Amino acid sequence: MSPSIAQGHDYDYIIVGAGSAGCVLANRLSADPRNRVLLLEAGGPDNWIWFHIPVGYLFAIGNPRADWCFRTRAEPGLNGRSLGYPRGKALGGSSAINAMIYSPEEHLPGPAVPDDDDEALAKAAGDIGTTIFHPVGTAKMGPESDPQAVVDERLRVFGLGSLRVIDASVMPTITSGNTNSPTMMIAEKGAAMVLEDAGRR
Ligand SMILES: Cc1cc2nc3c(=O)[nH]c(=O)nc-3n(C[C@H](O)[C@H](O)[C@H](O)COP(=O)(O)OP(=O)(O)OC[C@H]3O[C@@H](n4cnc5c(N)ncnc54)[C@H](O)[C@@H]3O)c2cc1C
Repeated sequence: MSPSIAQGHDYDYIIVGAGSAGCVLANRLSADPRNRVLLLEAGGPDNWIWFHIPVGYLFAIGNPRADWCFRTRAEPGLNGRSLGYPRGKALGGSSAINAMIYSPEEHLPGPAVPDDDDEALAKAAGDIGTTIFHPVGTAKMGPESDPQAVVDERLRVFGLGSLRVIDASVMPTITSGNTNSPTMMIAEKGAAMVLEDAGRR
């Protein structure tokens, strides 16, 4: 919704970010017509062909139309390299630019580096190592006694009564698989808890 439409209205719920979690939340919370829900998204609409073709992520990554274009700091463990760190910036968020492709298993660095040469293996890991675009845990869920925890078990930000974080960032640690489906399930559970706490379930 554009800011001009949003002005002058009252909302029960304001959701910042229409990504994997935000879209599920908006859908579940607005299913009850008594709930007035505002969904704010910094990026544009998803009416671009590369959002809808699996391999299209290759065109979306690094493109400001679709990606926040973050970069990591140069890391000593990556032999001083800085990595592109794509995050979706559009309706659908990172799910609009994620991979959705299958690629055959590949074993790196391959036979050129002997597997008993630790120094060569460490160098290869620094040269080759990269992310698979699954950052989580920047607002981790945990007990209040944990200085690293940002939200409690009902995803409420400690010290702020009405603010919740409901997305991939609340995972205390990375999942062993991909993150999009778990993020959508966090949103399902988060929406259920929001409605329970409001007495609307
Ligand atoms: C290139 C790429 C490939 C991936 N491949 C896979 C895959 O194959 N399988 C898989 O399971 N997972 C994959 N993932 C990971 C998965 O897509 C994410 O874990 C998941 O989408 C995260 O969901 P989220 O709701 O936490 O955040 P996002 O979906 O990133 O949503 C955040 C939204 O908030 C918006 N936003 C940010 N700041 C503001 C602001 N100030 N105001 C308004 N809006 C704001 C952003 O624009 C964005 O739309 C991939 C991710 C990327 C980037």
